[in-house]
Amino acid sequence: MNSNKEKVLIMRCNRYDADRIAGIIKEGMAELDVVPSGRVLLKPNVVIAHPDVFPYAFTRKEFLSGAIAATKQMAQGASEIAVGERSGITLPTRWTFKNAGYPEVIKTHGVKAYYFDEVQQVPVQIGNDHTLRKNIYIPRPVAEADFLINLPKFKAHPWCRLTLSLKNFIGIQDDRHRLVDHNIFLEHKIADLQEVIQPKFIAIDAITAGQKMMLTPTPFEMGAIIMGTNSCAVDTVGCHMVHVDPKDLKHLSLASDRGFGPMDLNDIDVAGDLPLEEVRSKTKHFEFCLEHIDRYFNEKTNLKCTVGAFPEKHSPDYCWGGCPGALQEAMHIFKAYYPDVYNEMRKVHYVVGRVEGPLDIDKDEKVIFVGNCTSWRGNINGKSVDIKSSYKSPRNVDERNTKSNDMVLKTVKTLSSCMLQRGKNYIHAKGCPVSVGDHVHYLSMIGGIKNVNFDPRLVVSLNIAYLNMRTHRAMNRYFT
Ligand code: SF4
Repeated sequence: MNSNKEKVLIMRCNRYDADRIAGIIKEGMAELDVVPSGRVLLKPNVVIAHPDVFPYAFTRKEFLSGAIAATKQMAQGASEIAVGERSGITLPTRWTFKNAGYPEVIKTHGVKAYYFDEVQQVPVQIGNDHTLRKNIYIPRPVAEADFLINLPKFKAHPWCRLTLSLKNFIGIQDDRHRLVDHNIFLEHKIADLQEVIQPKFIAIDAITAGQKMMLTPTPFEMGAIIMGTNSCAVDTVGCHMVHVDPKDLKHLSLASDRGFGPMDLNDIDVAGDLPLEEVRSKTKHFEFCLEHIDRYFNEKTNLKCTVGAFPEKHSPDYCWGGCPGALQEAMHIFKAYYPDVYNEMRKVHYVVGRVEGPLDIDKDEKVIFVGNCTSWRGNINGKSVDIKSSYKSPRNVDERNTKSNDMVLKTVKTLSSCMLQRGKNYIHAKGCPVSVGDHVHYLSMIGGIKNVNFDPRLVVSLNIAYLNMRTHRAMNRYFT
C-alpha cells in the first residue's frame, strides 16, 4: 500500500442508531489520524427538512449525534464544538433544524448552533487565475473555524449529478451570496468554495441515500458511512459507489485540476469493512435525474418547455446549475404536496435561453419566459412580444453589492411581479438564476397551483422561525 495515497473508508451501517454511528465515526477518525482541535465546526446538509414532506433530503439527526459524540471523544484542545448550516431556498435554518430534530441533539451534547443566515458574513480573498471572482463571502464562524468537519448526505442531484463533500459547501453561504454564480457557473463556484476552506474530516451519511432530486429524493438503502480527510478522494469513491465516472462530476474535475485532491481510484486507498464492489453490486439501478427539461416535462403533463441557447461557451446548449434545474426542483416540491399536480395545473409553456423562431403555443396556454439570459421575439395571440436578454457574465456581477433576498422579500417580489404583469398572456421572470423559491411562486400564480408556502402544515411555524431569524440577525449585527 502506498502511504502517500489519500485514504477513504467505506463502513457498513444499516440503521440510524446514534451510538453505533458514533462508534463507527470514532473508529474512522482513529484510523485516519483525525484529532479535532481549536474551534471545531460540524457542517451537516440540511438544505430542507420535514418529517412528512422532505424526509430524505438531509443528514439525519442520529448521524449528527454520532458525529458530535465521536468528535467530543477524539478532540484534543477543542475551544468550541459547534454545528452550523444555511438551509436552501431561503427557509430559515432554525425551521429546518427543528424539523430535522437537531435542537435536542445539540442540547443533549451541549454544543453550540450557528445559523448562518443570522451571523455576520465576511469576505475572504480567493482570487487567482482560476476563480470566478476575487472574494467570496462566508459566515464568520466558518472563517474562524480551525477544524471543519463536513457531514454531507449522499444524494443524486439534478444540477450536478451527485451531492457529496464538495457540493455540500454551497450550504455555507447565506441567501445574499449563495445565488451569486449559482447558474451556468455552479460547478466553478463549488470549486471556488474549496479555495476558502477545506474540511479536515468528512463523514457522509449514506445509510439511506437519496435518488433523483436533492430536495425531494426517493430513498435508497445504501447502508454505508463514507469517511476521509480529502474531499476529492471521498467524492471520487462516492462516484464509483453509484457507477458514475468521476470525470462526469464537473466540480470534482475542476477541484482536482486545481490540486485539491485525486480523482483516480489508483491514487486512493479505499478501505473499511464494506467493499466497494459489494456496494456497486447493489447500486446498479440507483436513479439519477439528468434530463433536459424539454424532454422531462413535455409528455403527459400540462407543462411544456422550450429550451434555447445559453450565453457561455463552456455550456452553450444547457444551463446546468440555474433556472432549468430550479424548475425541476420546484415541480417536485409541488408534487410532494399535490401528487397529481402535472395534470391539475393550468397549461404553462416555459421558455428559457435564447430562442429563435415561432413558439408552438396553445390558445389556453400561459407563457413564462424565465431568466436574464432568455430572449425571444414573436407574436403571442396576435400581440407582438420582445423579450430581451439582460444576462451578465460573472466579471460584471459585483459580489459586494448583492441585494437582500430572504423568504418574505422573495415572496413579495415575485408575487408583485406577477400582479404587475397580470394583464399580459405571458410573464417574464427575471434573475440569474430564478431560484427554486421564485419558481414556486411564479408557477403557483400562472399554473393555478396552491402555493405551498401558505400550506397550513407549514405557514405558522415557518413564519415564527422567520421572525426569530430576523430578530437574531439584527441582534448579531448590532451587538457583536
Ligand atoms: S438566467 Fe437562468 S438559465 Fe440563463 S444563465 Fe442564468 S441561471 Fe442559467
